[in-house]
Amino acid sequence: MKLFKKIVDIQTWAEKIHKKGEDIALVPTMGCFHKGHLSLMQKGKELCNHVVVSLFVNPTQFGKNEDFNSYPENIKKDIKLAKTIDVSAIFLADKKEIYPEKFQTYVELTHLPSYLCGRTRQGHFKGVTTIITKLFNIIKPDKAIFGSKDFQQVQIIRQMTYDLNYNIEIIECPTVREDDNLAMSSRNIYLTSEQRKSALSLSRALKKAKKMIVKEKNLNGDSIKNEIERYINSFPFTEIDYIALCDPETLRNVINIKKSVLFALAIKIGKTRLIDNIIINPAK
Ligand code: AMP
Repeated sequence: MKLFKKIVDIQTWAEKIHKKGEDIALVPTMGCFHKGHLSLMQKGKELCNHVVVSLFVNPTQFGKNEDFNSYPENIKKDIKLAKTIDVSAIFLADKKEIYPEKFQTYVELTHLPSYLCGRTRQGHFKGVTTIITKLFNIIKPDKAIFGSKDFQQVQIIRQMTYDLNYNIEIIECPTVREDDNLAMSSRNIYLTSEQRKSALSLSRALKKAKKMIVKEKNLNGDSIKNEIERYINSFPFTEIDYIALCDPETLRNVINIKKSVLFALAIKIGKTRLIDNIIINPAK
């Protein structure tokens, strides 16, 4: 497994791979790997000759009061874990390599970032689309793999790939969960054992929303959200950022559920902000 820290080095390597007629799957990450990250790498192995994992805690996607400075890091362990999947390369650039002093170009979508996480995390998706654009330009992957835990992120990247005419296939992988259904996240390690119990409110709320829509045939978005709000608030340490029922493509709010909807949550458990989501088809 190769470890690249310089843009020019990974660029040269990726060009050589492509000249040989082999393809590359890119898995962008911020490190501190868990089984969710590894599932994306595994998918990349299935689909392409080579998997490149980028490991970069991207400063431009963190707000002023967010956890950039305390974001969990364990590079040695990450490298070991990536080796178990037999990825071809890790791209581990530092901040100056990615954002040199004279840097001044950002990539931003006009609509999709104004919903869900974008409402409270101002500028977050601008940071995401900028770093992903740079990674796409540097590595020129054939496929790029993302987790549906960050559903809005995948939709935004799909749209950006279409808008900017990248010839890159965006692959979405299902959310990997702990045995008790908590969605795996690098941020879960912030949780105390008491908070960890309250964190289960997210996955349980998804199950509850699905039951209301599919079994109880409650197709009124507002009434579902009200009930879920009461449910989440019944757990200690929880503070609701948003509870959303929306169109999976446009992310616009849905009041009368007629077809598949995205049910998405962002909940702060103490200081830790967690997200989760599910697509619910009212017919099954
Ligand atoms: P992160 O390092 O948190 O930025 O995540 C890197 C990639 O891993 C993103 O595409 C995430 O959607 C994906 N990811 C994070 N958590 C999970 C999970 N539990 N299951 C599957 N993919 C995940």
